[in-house]
Amino acid sequence: MALEWRDGCPFSARFGDVYFSAESGLDESEHVFLRGNDLPARFARLGPGQTFTVAETGFGTGLNFLATWRLFADVAPPSAQLDYFAVEAHPLAEEELVAVLARFPELAAFAAPLAARWRRRVPGWNRWHFAGGRVRLTLAWQDVAEALPGLPEASVDAWFLDGFAPAKNPEMWSAAVCTEVARSTRPGATFATYTAAGWVRRNLAAAGFAVEKRQGFGRKREMTVGSKPGRALPAFSPAEPVTVIGGGLAGCAAGFALARRGLAVTLLDAAPVLASGASGNPVGILHLRLAAGMGALQRLLLAAWGHALAQLDELLPVDGEVRAECGLLQLAVSPEEARRIERLKAMAWPSHLLRAVEAEEAGGLAGLPLVLPGLWFPQGGWVVPARLAARQAEGLFLRLGKAVAGLEKTADGWRVDTPGGALSPAAVVVANGHAARAFAPLAHLPLQPVRGQITEVAATPASLRLQTVVCGEGYLTPARAGRHVLGASTRFDDVGTDLRVAEHAEILGRLATTLPELYAALGGDKAYILGGRAGIRCSAPGAMPIVGEAAPGLYVSLAHGTRGLLTAGLAGEMLAALHTRTLPPLPVSLLAAAAPARFARLERDQGGRGSRCGECGP
Ligand code: SAM
Repeated sequence: MALEWRDGCPFSARFGDVYFSAESGLDESEHVFLRGNDLPARFARLGPGQTFTVAETGFGTGLNFLATWRLFADVAPPSAQLDYFAVEAHPLAEEELVAVLARFPELAAFAAPLAARWRRRVPGWNRWHFAGGRVRLTLAWQDVAEALPGLPEASVDAWFLDGFAPAKNPEMWSAAVCTEVARSTRPGATFATYTAAGWVRRNLAAAGFAVEKRQGFGRKREMTVGSKPGRALPAFSPAEPVTVIGGGLAGCAAGFALARRGLAVTLLDAAPVLASGASGNPVGILHLRLAAGMGALQRLLLAAWGHALAQLDELLPVDGEVRAECGLLQLAVSPEEARRIERLKAMAWPSHLLRAVEAEEAGGLAGLPLVLPGLWFPQGGWVVPARLAARQAEGLFLRLGKAVAGLEKTADGWRVDTPGGALSPAAVVVANGHAARAFAPLAHLPLQPVRGQITEVAATPASLRLQTVVCGEGYLTPARAGRHVLGASTRFDDVGTDLRVAEHAEILGRLATTLPELYAALGGDKAYILGGRAGIRCSAPGAMPIVGEAAPGLYVSLAHGTRGLLTAGLAGEMLAALHTRTLPPLPVSLLAAAAPARFARLERDQGGRGSRCGECGP
């Protein structure tokens, strides 16, 4: 463990410094960072529905975050919202965080929800919600030099510069870091820091801040504050109302994220019930399939995983009925899978996210003997997707059974034609999968329908012992209400939703070849097929979802492929942040990688469409 205790203070052996003052961490935080940025008055002055953005270098124990949240809860108007961004290269272990924060009983009501989210942390960007969505924490588990360029230009209202002492942690105070801090600060916005080191002040001044000294906390004579010249921009009010087209996970998640920001959202779907298309399987698995390497898709999937688990913690109980956190095994069922697993093993992963297991341990976890090694994802599991969609849709105006016939730009927004009349929202989110191609403004997107069928098999006394989700070339869930779900078939450009015997046979046949011990537990040739379901997913070249603004006020959340349970929630956050011009949940480079504009560019550069879908795994 990196955390030690010195004279009752949390101390980092790595940096040789304390996390906060020996005198009183909380008083120091309030003096230096909250009052140093004039936050009591600035929070109190916020207008209805306005968002304030704080950013911090060095999340550490979260003490500054909790102090800020408490102040916000005390003085900001009830409809105002807080975005808090923090970078942290070396997050504390869960028990360390809990032990440090236990020293502040006055913050217990805020510390408990933070501690509950902490186990969902992933490398890269994390987006968690507190206080019913009023407070958003974006934690970048990254080096500061890598994280700060991810912030949009002029997006931060107040900076807390809280690295360890500059002499011990110079990389947190470098000229490059100060330049990034200044770039991401709004005109008229501020920073505060406990240090008065001359070279740090000079770096901040050179980056463009007006810098001044203030009285420090306790025995520290001086500290530094500053502001970015220029006039603060008037508060931005996003256009309302918003219409979401599509009542699957992508649409419900987008509606949820927008409604949480106080916007009036109407959701339309052609079907009479939510989650009746690709999101309608009786059970969906929480499955993070990683590649070796840290490309854009991988970084997005990691962020989506942490976000999805944290959102599920808010919305659905782990009760074995609507959701289970039973863990998930990925087994080395082929030489290719074995190579992927070996490469992932060689990378450093936090063990709460994944770890390698030998066959014997895998079998112990699964509850049934297994003969292959693999990866263990202790937080994997399954969810009833329709129950998640229903929770997300609770605050939305639902107009179900309304097929949208057309979508057109108007002078002041969009016109959405339905059989019951037209809607005229200021903004639209299109989240209806491959059917989005029918809308003229989105006809250029290379959306590909992919049929996928699942098979439901009756549990046997042997198969009831299965405790975890097992993935090989397909997947098998533990029994729920006497049924296992096996997935899935993949048929490109096939939009049939009929159940096919041949695909049931294919799914079971694949299990028989790759994981014969599990096939035998289901009864082998006598496995009893109870039914199944076929849905049409939507994919795009490269398997990256298409999320972003396609035209002014026209947003899309499309091409989630087989991963909607993972990516739809984060996509909703991305769109809500774009529309309200608040802090995005991902770095700007990843927003660009997912944006629909990438196809407009591709079309221009290549004079045609991209290649076909490269993804549709289990
Ligand atoms: N603000 C914190 C709190 O409320 O507990 C205390 C922050 S502590 C003084 C400084 C933090 O900066 C440590 O948690 C440390 O791991 C982090 N840090 C140091 N160097 C870093 C780097 N290069 N990139 C990101 N974080 C870094």
